[in-house]
Amino acid sequence: SAKNAGKNQFHFYKNEMTSEIYEKVIMKQELNDAIQNNEFEVYYQPQIDLKTNKIIGAEALVRWNHKSLGVVYPSDFISHAEETKQIIPIGEFVLKEACAFMKKLNESKILEKGIISVNISSIQIKHGNLLNKVTEELKVSKLNPANLDIELTETYIMENIQESILILNELKNLGVKLSIDDFGTGYSSLSYLKLFPIDKLKIDKSFSSSLPNDKKDVAITRSIIALGKGLEVKVIAEGVETLEQKEFLEKENCDEIQGWFYSKALKEEDFIKLVKEFN
Ligand code: C2E
Ligand code: MG
Ligand code: MG
Ligand code: MG
Repeated sequence: SAKNAGKNQFHFYKNEMTSEIYEKVIMKQELNDAIQNNEFEVYYQPQIDLKTNKIIGAEALVRWNHKSLGVVYPSDFISHAEETKQIIPIGEFVLKEACAFMKKLNESKILEKGIISVNISSIQIKHGNLLNKVTEELKVSKLNPANLDIELTETYIMENIQESILILNELKNLGVKLSIDDFGTGYSSLSYLKLFPIDKLKIDKSFSSSLPNDKKDVAITRSIIALGKGLEVKVIAEGVETLEQKEFLEKENCDEIQGWFYSKALKEEDFIKLVKEFN
């Protein structure tokens, strides 16, 4: 009967709720242990200048070395960590590691002018005292501020325009570089773009992946490159996997690329090896 169906549904719903809450509690504990036990590791994906064909920097990408699961990727834990604000200590760890690593590469001349890009969560801005943390890490690492690039997503920036103008200007005053990540996916208000003191647009990998065959993705990619030229900011394409994609972006005068065509994100020592071979 309808009544019984309703009852069953309710039970089903209730069980699902319970397991979802249970899962969240476990995840929170697991992340807590991971923070205590230093189970996070920063990997580095090279960024290549298309004019010189040299590695000019890297994006820092966090991985979780889980005791039993092995390597866990950000898509499986970042949103949980944001919900619980555990992304704050995780993000601070990534920033510290990334600044220290690039300082080492700058100083040893392995990558004398190399720039390190670090992803920042909106939670770090809203609740994590980001400006002080960045100031502190620059001081501790002695990294040249111009060699730190802070990545904020287009979605965050466009959903928090007043707050972003403030924080981006404060960061800019420290001398760091600023990039808009996942550009093209976040409903940009083009008139607002000129208000932000940004240095770079990162074309989202969802556009790169079907170049050069998909006419619409070609049109969008060309428009972002033209927008970058007009705004006098650099443009980097992420998610470049094939020679065809690389050649298309080169022909279109995209400034930089990043993607599996060159390399996945690597552990420190493998990144150093790659730079020495490649550059
Ligand atoms: P993102 O910042 O847009 O980073 C690019 C993602 O694309 C990375 O995934 C990278 O490994 C992947 N990727 C690079 N080249 C290719 C390619 O050629 N093909 C494909 N299919 N993928 C490619 P990853 O490392 O899994 O990170 C996913 C997202 O998690 C990042 O997207 C970023 O939003 C977030 N994330 C990673 N590390 C951090 C961090 O330290 N803090 C914060 N807040 N978020 C992070
Ligand atoms: Mg990024
Ligand atoms: Mg991105
Ligand atoms: Mg992303």
